[in-house]
Amino acid sequence: MVGTFSYKFDTPTFKGTSTFPTGLFINGKFVDPVEDATIDVINPTNAKVIGKVAIGSSRDVDIAVKVAQDAFDKSWGLNVAGSERGKLLWKLADLMEQNADELAALEALDVGKAYSVARNFDINGCIATLRYYAGWSDKDHGQTIETDENKLAYTRHEPIGVVGQIIPWNLPLVMMCWKIGPALATGNTIVLKPSEVTPLSALRMCSLVNEAGYPAGVVNIINGLGSTVGQAMSEHMGIEKIAFTGSTVTGRKIMEAAARTNLKNVTLELGGKSPNIIFDDAEIEQAVKWAAHGIYFNHGQACAAGSRIFVQAGIYDEFMKRFTAHSQALTLGDPFEPTTYQGPQVSQTQFDRIMNYIDSGKKDGAKVHIGGGRHGSEGYFIQPTIFTNCRPEMKIVKEEIFGPVAVVIKFTDEEDVVRQANDTAYGLASAIFTQNINLALRVAHKIQAGTVWINCTNFPEVNVPFGGYKQSGIGRELGEYALRNYTAVKAVHVNLGHKM
Ligand code: NAD
Repeated sequence: MVGTFSYKFDTPTFKGTSTFPTGLFINGKFVDPVEDATIDVINPTNAKVIGKVAIGSSRDVDIAVKVAQDAFDKSWGLNVAGSERGKLLWKLADLMEQNADELAALEALDVGKAYSVARNFDINGCIATLRYYAGWSDKDHGQTIETDENKLAYTRHEPIGVVGQIIPWNLPLVMMCWKIGPALATGNTIVLKPSEVTPLSALRMCSLVNEAGYPAGVVNIINGLGSTVGQAMSEHMGIEKIAFTGSTVTGRKIMEAAARTNLKNVTLELGGKSPNIIFDDAEIEQAVKWAAHGIYFNHGQACAAGSRIFVQAGIYDEFMKRFTAHSQALTLGDPFEPTTYQGPQVSQTQFDRIMNYIDSGKKDGAKVHIGGGRHGSEGYFIQPTIFTNCRPEMKIVKEEIFGPVAVVIKFTDEEDVVRQANDTAYGLASAIFTQNINLALRVAHKIQAGTVWINCTNFPEVNVPFGGYKQSGIGRELGEYALRNYTAVKAVHVNLGHKM
């Protein structure tokens, strides 16, 4: 018997009840998993269990892949014109807009992020992403290629088939829309696994998928653990492509599984340790505000977080004075209070992980400039934390902390800061603050990262590609580039006169 999640929000920012089934979503219906199992859903603000959802196993993945293949062959894929696919994606975006407040509330509840952020950044971003890809649905053409008078050659951009998508907990709906948008625009069918830490909003989306009018089996959602459902998807012979967002460690496992099985095509959006470089001539108040957004947005749980802040010697003292004051003024608390900027970290595991990094920084001799401890007495809140006196070999400088923890490093010259910025296994994003356009572009071109923001940071756009250099990933999401993840190029040669 498929269970139900029901939650009554009676908060200053959202009032209403959200109710939806908690089964697996396969072939357009909520169903029980083959093997009866559930996981608890935890409210990170107070660590209380607020519900249970069903979780699947490899046997459910088998069922979902078969259903998705049937749908691809019979009611989707090459059977549906791009313009029709575009209408459905646009309808899904409209439905998200109609239910935006409820979706934002679920996201705030499950992740712990401020409701206002969930509503304005997450949900609006999702709607924009689906509309952007709705527009692409009938515009991703192949090419006609000139050879000689006796041949016509052209390419087709065909959907791949059944694609697997595995997403993390930090931006559950945003990551879902970054994945399903281009996959549906190009005619693929989907088996998607949300993070076991934040399973709610993807379940709420399932009824919107049906309401939008998608044929059964086009979108299938299987909640479950990474080690079971995620692993089964990565190994599955019926999944031709897997798109993953999450940690580098997991990305490696997915690639290994793909290599061992059907060599499925893999795209990875992984971690980062992004440098944020502030030169002496930066407009200081803006640099401070953006730097704070860079590291504290979503409580530091952002893959592109500007977690290594390099500040040039001439501006260092003034920057630190203002950045410290700004950090100390951030309001931590209940995500549903209108004044809250920072809520709790997502889980006990993440809380412990971040506190371990803070301890390692202290042990390694870095100075806790501010913060460094728990905020309040319940839930997973961590104070905004700034470390100074850092050395390049410290773990807090090298590894992704994924929390509200900044390391600030003083530098003197351009060459030195470029070397330090690139001294990392990651290469997801970076930022440069200066009013000198020559300096900004010179440094932008030397930084090894998939994104360089100049005089802003942590500021993606749906139509601009996003993804990593080095161990931050393979492939690009967003923009036209993401369509390449979900299409196979077929070359057709027509002989108009060559004789053997
Ligand atoms: P994670 O790798 O632990 O989990 C991500 C997803 O992978 C979850 O759904 C999980 O269940 C699944 N998973 C875990 N083990 C698996 C396995 N063996 N096989 C298949 N799937 C498996 O990461 P997380 O803790 O959920 O998220 C935090 C990480 O994600 C951070 O490192 C962050 O930088 C990264 N991230 C990157 C981006 C980006 O766009 N580059 C965006 C968000 C998060």
